[in-house]
Amino acid sequence: MARIAFIGLGNMGGPMAANLVKAGHEVTGFDLAAPVLKAAEETGVKPASHVSQAVAGAETVVTMLPQGKHVLTAWPDILASIPAATLVIDCSTIDVESARKAHAMAKAAGCLSLDAPVSGGTGGAAAGTLTFMAGGSQESFAKAKPILEAMGKKIVHCGEAGAGQAAKICNNMILGISMIGVCEAFVLAEKLGLSHQALFDVASTSSGQCWSINTYCPVPGPVPSSPANNAYKPGFAAALMLKDLRLSQEAALLSGASTPLGAEAAQLYALFEKQGNGGRDFSAIIEMFRSKV
Ligand code: NAD
Repeated sequence: MARIAFIGLGNMGGPMAANLVKAGHEVTGFDLAAPVLKAAEETGVKPASHVSQAVAGAETVVTMLPQGKHVLTAWPDILASIPAATLVIDCSTIDVESARKAHAMAKAAGCLSLDAPVSGGTGGAAAGTLTFMAGGSQESFAKAKPILEAMGKKIVHCGEAGAGQAAKICNNMILGISMIGVCEAFVLAEKLGLSHQALFDVASTSSGQCWSINTYCPVPGPVPSSPANNAYKPGFAAALMLKDLRLSQEAALLSGASTPLGAEAAQLYALFEKQGNGGRDFSAIIEMFRSKV
């Protein structure tokens, strides 16, 4: 079993670190927020009072932080406190450029590194069923895999540095666009007098099928487990969808990719958030289309 340092023990990091403890690893954690650190302690994580204290003696360090700027602030402190050849894994969802900068910092310090963002939300983090999308060397991936397996059920090596973040934002751009498409179709069906169930029965088994309708249907009824049946409690909050769509648009701008629907989806989710809906599930955007955008 490994000695692991876990930095960032929030909504995702907390349950992920708890699963590492359950798998028999010795986990030392640090978070800037004292109540978050206390909650992690209750799951068996040893609390540290500073990043350097958390990573001392660790064979692997995992970070789970809000944005690229937080990762680029935390990693220099981490890298200054660990010996060469230690593995540092960042599981946060951040921009590809920052992820590549973090890899470059690790390389300069002689350390192994992996970007490994996740899909599956807080439910998947608690259940240990996350999907990890990893970018980095074969050596880093091979060393990280058994650790990631304690927190997830599918671990995909997507390529070199930054490839995990690239896969994550491309996937979530598809998700944002497809959810808007499905919502528009249900609103049109309502205007045409077509029932939700009838549209679902046809589209979920025809060429309109996708995760946004088959698994996460934005109207109550057809898929009982979707957030639409629970007053749009997240699930996946609209603010996080907006964050990922913005990351996709930053990447599109920097790489010269044409993503007109991604750009439109980002604008629509920005408007939805501005109307006070950032904390609701992202499928609640159907309500915005009912009231005409
Ligand atoms: P969160 O805000 O709940 O947790 C982040 C934690 O990082 C906070 O507790 C904060 O105090 C801590 N932190 C910030 N800077 C720090 C530093 N320098 N040192 C130590 N701790 C620091 O966020 P979250 O929901 O756990 O999300 C974390 C990442 O996972 C984000 O990048 C998010 O986009 C991604 N993600 C979230 C979800 C989700 O459903 N919540 C799903 C997939 C991916």
